[in-house]
Amino acid sequence: MERDNPLGTARSLPPLLADRRPGTRIALDIGATKLAVRAAGPDGSAGLYRRWAGDDPEADLALICSAIADVRCRLGDAVRQVGVAAAPTVDHHGRVTAWPSRPAWAGLPLGEALAEAAGAPVAIADDGMLAALAEADASGCADLAYIGLGTGVGGGLVVGGVVLRGAHGTAGEIGHLPVDPAGPECACGRRGCLQAYAGGSALATRAATLRSEPTSTRQLVAAIAAGDRWAVQVADEAALALARAVITLTEVVGPAEVHIGGGLGAALADLPQRVGAAVSGMGRAGHRLPVVRAAALGSHASLAGAMLLAQRPSALSPAPG
Ligand SMILES: [Zn+2]
Repeated sequence: MERDNPLGTARSLPPLLADRRPGTRIALDIGATKLAVRAAGPDGSAGLYRRWAGDDPEADLALICSAIADVRCRLGDAVRQVGVAAAPTVDHHGRVTAWPSRPAWAGLPLGEALAEAAGAPVAIADDGMLAALAEADASGCADLAYIGLGTGVGGGLVVGGVVLRGAHGTAGEIGHLPVDPAGPECACGRRGCLQAYAGGSALATRAATLRSEPTSTRQLVAAIAAGDRWAVQVADEAALALARAVITLTEVVGPAEVHIGGGLGAALADLPQRVGAAVSGMGRAGHRLPVVRAAALGSHASLAGAMLLAQRPSALSPAPG
């Protein structure tokens, strides 16, 4: 049963099936523009979602902690575990190392603060990684790459049912796979990253160049659907860059499926087919290629992954040391 949500500016999330195991599990999705919190236990679930903005770490943390307190008291049971999908980069000790969207967060002991607020252990992972975990779970696919298209490009890798984190917790940054060393400059300072071809900002810039007038991603999406030549060219170039990234992923981790999601990915309904067609032309004899398809879950994939993490912290590959 979903309980009422008392926070005025937030709205409730769709209910989850009750988790029959004792104790409450809490999931958080901390993004630059959104904060989502969900609790689930034997008696039901409670959740809230709100837009947020700001760069005052103390005020931001206070808001997160009040949201935790809210869902926690609505379910009443003791919290067993917290899972967090985080847009900021967080080290293995739960400390924020960087967040370009909110630079003042650098150095914030996020894990420690959340553990204190919830009275339970906290597991934190990149939001793209946890979206990949949720996609893998929803699709029954243990080897999956997730590519999330928004303003930039995020993603994550699930290998053998486990989220691949790497030595520094930053594996699966698919948006920064180099697809052309002579390509356009990426926000990260390198040239030719996937994000510089397939992120929303990059697509709008490319469209504006081809049309010689400012173009929003919304206009671009509509023009692709209408078949406008300039827009189809932008979509094809993005699909080619995505296909090159998919081939690189295929050679390294061999996913069975590649899911394309995120807000922009969902708006570009035929992009997975375009990417799949480009990928099929890049195969090697005797080597199977992954199936490229649209993401199974919508905008709450990272939150769903955070709940999976709260239920099964071993879903992350082990932290070094
Ligand atoms: Zn980059």
